Amino acid sequence: MKKLAALLGALVVVLVVVVVVRTMRFTPARGDARPAVALAPENDTLLAQHLAGAIKFATISKQDSGPELVPMRALHAYLAQTFPRTHATLTHEVVAPASLLFEWKGSDPALEPIVMMSHLDVVPVEAGSEGSWTHAPFSGDIADGFVWGRGTLDDKVGVLSTLEAIESLVAKGYTPKRTIYLAFGDDEEVDGHGAGAIVALLKSRGVHPLVAIDEGSAIIRGIIPGVSRPAGLIGVAEKGHMSVQLTVMAAGGHSSMPPPQTAVGVLAQAIDRLEKHPLPAHMNAATEGMLGQLAREMPLGARVMMANLWLTRPLVMWSMARSPVTNASLRTTTAPTMIQGSPKENVLPIRAQAIVNFRIIPGETPESVVEHVKKVVDDSNVVVTVAGVPSPPSPVSSTTSDAYRILSRDIAVLEPDAIVAPSLVVGATDSRQYGGYARDVYRFLPMQIGATDLERLHGTNERIGIHDYARGVAFMTLLISDLSSQ
Ligand SMILES: [Zn+2]
Repeated sequence: MKKLAALLGALVVVLVVVVVVRTMRFTPARGDARPAVALAPENDTLLAQHLAGAIKFATISKQDSGPELVPMRALHAYLAQTFPRTHATLTHEVVAPASLLFEWKGSDPALEPIVMMSHLDVVPVEAGSEGSWTHAPFSGDIADGFVWGRGTLDDKVGVLSTLEAIESLVAKGYTPKRTIYLAFGDDEEVDGHGAGAIVALLKSRGVHPLVAIDEGSAIIRGIIPGVSRPAGLIGVAEKGHMSVQLTVMAAGGHSSMPPPQTAVGVLAQAIDRLEKHPLPAHMNAATEGMLGQLAREMPLGARVMMANLWLTRPLVMWSMARSPVTNASLRTTTAPTMIQGSPKENVLPIRAQAIVNFRIIPGETPESVVEHVKKVVDDSNVVVTVAGVPSPPSPVSSTTSDAYRILSRDIAVLEPDAIVAPSLVVGATDSRQYGGYARDVYRFLPMQIGATDLERLHGTNERIGIHDYARGVAFMTLLISDLSSQ
């Protein structure tokens, strides 16, 4: 008995030593040091004016209709006029109906090209919220140190900062070694057909991109609990999405003589089962990579946990699953969003239906999610069908590639204090079209996103700081020249 106690005691001591040593070694990673380069933003005012000019075109994407061609064409003309050197030096074409593709031929045709992505469309302004905007959403007003309007964060900022970078590189007489494509989709906010058409065209020309860079993540400030430094998050993967329709048919009739359970009751039970049985949590590579960097900055308790995942994994996953934000980066989420019964209070439904929206984690597929739904619902009265076209999750891009290293290093130039980390993007971007096509896809825009900016994205009073924008342009210039010269 004594021997056993001594053995157990020794095991506990070893365990404690391992946990302590691992925690002590779990310190902030030092990035790939870059020779002291400082970003030199150009004329802030002029850059702001160019962006503001583009905001004025209401290139709104509406559900179930293609891009609005009149404002799109006006925006094209505005870009041609604002960036004359780019249009004179790069070949450019409209990919039907209104996407734009530019090509800047590199000096070494043997090198795989890079693709800088953005989108020209914006989401609508929610009806009734127009009056809450400090400056009208399509005014492009410049005031109080900001450019205001729809598209200043998502995603005319991407289009304009990319074109500003190219314009200044052309002006400096720069010649890329690698070919550079600029790919601006026309309907990212609805279908991403535009980006798909560009990919189809590039494939038909035998183009094999090394890397595609798109929106989707940024410099995040004061949003992640326990992390006080800014975080430069590089989206190395994004979730897929799919909606499933549940339909229950019944005899109908008058509500004064109902059966024990109506179609609505059967449907409600199915939805309840789905909510009570979520898909399993996985610590995917993108999320683990993010936590592995960010947790190094966190208070001791979090550091002990993250440095010793071999021991603490179940506890970490349990605590992450409790918050909707962190839960979303752990598992395929289940969200019943729409439900419909009979059209009148005293009519028994002959048909009840609901839509459940799933956001699919890397490692799962639309098919495996449908399988899960059928298994959990387990009721032959409930017909399960896929609504619309599902989009599978993206592959997870490398965090050891040259392109990732360059991107991380340039983020450190933009924001020397930032922790750079990979991350999983829980929304969808046009870059999903490049999954399995470009060797790697990274989602990062050089924007500063604080807690209040999250509400402005797709919301009211979208705006960007003039100085932050100018620094973003300088970053894009550095990134494009670094990626295309190696
Ligand atoms: Zn966007």
